[in-house]
Amino acid sequence: MREVTHFIGGQKVVGTSGRFSDIYDPNVGEVQARVALATEAEVSAAVENAKAALPMWAATNPQRRARVMFEFKRLLEANMDELAELLSSEHGKVVADSRGDVQRGIDVVEFACGIPHLQKGEYTEGAGPGIDVYSMRQPLGVVAGITPFNFPAMIPCWMFAVAIACGNTFILKPSEKDPSVPLRMVELFMEAGAPEGVLNMVNGDKTAVDAILTHPDIKAVSFVGSSDIAQYVYATGTAHGKRVQAMGGAKNHGIILPDANMDQAVKDIVGAAYGSAGERCMALPVAVTVGQKTGDEFVERMLDAARGLKVGVSIDAEAHYGPVVSAAHKAKVESYIQMGVDEGADLKLDGRGHTLQGHENGYFIGPSLFDHVKPGMQSYEEEIFGPVLQVVRAESLEEAAALPSNHQYGNGVAIFTSNGRAAREFASQVNVGMVGINVPIPVPVSYHTFGGWKRSAFGDTNQHGPEGVRFWTKIKTVTSRWPEGDIGDQAFIIPTMG
Ligand code: NAD
Repeated sequence: MREVTHFIGGQKVVGTSGRFSDIYDPNVGEVQARVALATEAEVSAAVENAKAALPMWAATNPQRRARVMFEFKRLLEANMDELAELLSSEHGKVVADSRGDVQRGIDVVEFACGIPHLQKGEYTEGAGPGIDVYSMRQPLGVVAGITPFNFPAMIPCWMFAVAIACGNTFILKPSEKDPSVPLRMVELFMEAGAPEGVLNMVNGDKTAVDAILTHPDIKAVSFVGSSDIAQYVYATGTAHGKRVQAMGGAKNHGIILPDANMDQAVKDIVGAAYGSAGERCMALPVAVTVGQKTGDEFVERMLDAARGLKVGVSIDAEAHYGPVVSAAHKAKVESYIQMGVDEGADLKLDGRGHTLQGHENGYFIGPSLFDHVKPGMQSYEEEIFGPVLQVVRAESLEEAAALPSNHQYGNGVAIFTSNGRAAREFASQVNVGMVGINVPIPVPVSYHTFGGWKRSAFGDTNQHGPEGVRFWTKIKTVTSRWPEGDIGDQAFIIPTMG
């Protein structure tokens, strides 16, 4: 059986723990490969290699580091088809969507190509007599990234592309559910000219994660995954003296005002709710309609749109979305649908029990739609992460806007309206980190920054964009004095520079 290895010190390394995790093909529900789970010693070996590569890489001038990024971008583009197909075969998302996953990763690599500009410091000439002040952004050292299953191409790039461009060396610990694309990307990164040891990959579970969080030579950790684990990673990593950013789960709301373009809102929300089988942290699983008429019209039209979706295998070019990632996840999503029914929400469309001829063991779930979902229901308060849209009815914009603001998660939110003033006020006041105005999935472009609020993110620095460069560097400020002649005895006075 195919075995996914670690990648340490410039080469593939077969795991020695004797522990493995199965990699499934969600389209057929069968094991297609296995991945070795790292021991603490294997994580330490990766750190040693990253440490050995650090002095040379940190001293490499930024334009040379950027050249590796340019070449990596070219290789990702050249290998797009292979990467997208491999990604779909382990994740289950349709190939067109996998291409988007890879492209979003490429966008961050493209951003990292600008590192000579991005990492420039600041300079003040003449801050005092003969005194100049300048600042520089230096790499942190050996750093690590731990990523979830749902964007196996994009999210590793959020982390390692920016961190390595800044002069750090890196340990990637991808999801054990779909590690083949991360491994292939690491190979391509080496092919792009990165010296060995600059990017390492260890596969694993809690053992590997804990080894990363407690290793004294790892200076910073970036994590993306579910909230409880994000909180654990943040608490453990910071307790061990590391800089940590840990992005968690989400429950994004889309608010539809009576003056919204309903055609557009329905088209947008059907894709945002059900695309990638709802397994996106920026999916829109909650629609909040304002006013009875808007609610009735939205539910009727959304029902039609959802019924029209084609659920199919990943390679079916006509399919809107594919299977969810695992049998356990399928069971979890379906249990939330039952919970919604038990809690009294109105199940208008039930996606449970969806089977596909010839793929009866695949992890398929049809689209589900609930109306009259209410705050306080557990199925509303928690993340489902499946193809389930919950409609909440509100009477006013104030009532609607309070829902995402008061929810435990605060990743993304969207408002659909033709009233610019209402949208502007909403964007300013809502207690959520990323806002879309007539945009259903407001994932910021790579040169802006990605990150939610509340239980959607622990730590205070976001992914990519200028914030990413800040996270992966530390600032040093130098004050220099080259006076002309004797400036007298000022040693006992705090310098004020007049
Ligand atoms: P997950 O939390 O199960 O796994 C994430 C990572 O943590 C994986 O690498 C996994 O191996 C590791 N891990 C799992 N259990 C662990 C444990 N007990 N101790 C230490 N490490 C552990 O998440 P997932 O199911 O892979 O991904 C889906 C989740 O990620 C959803 O909640 C989704 O909202 C979230 N997500 C958030 C963002 C964001 O930017 N906020 C982006 C993508 C996904």
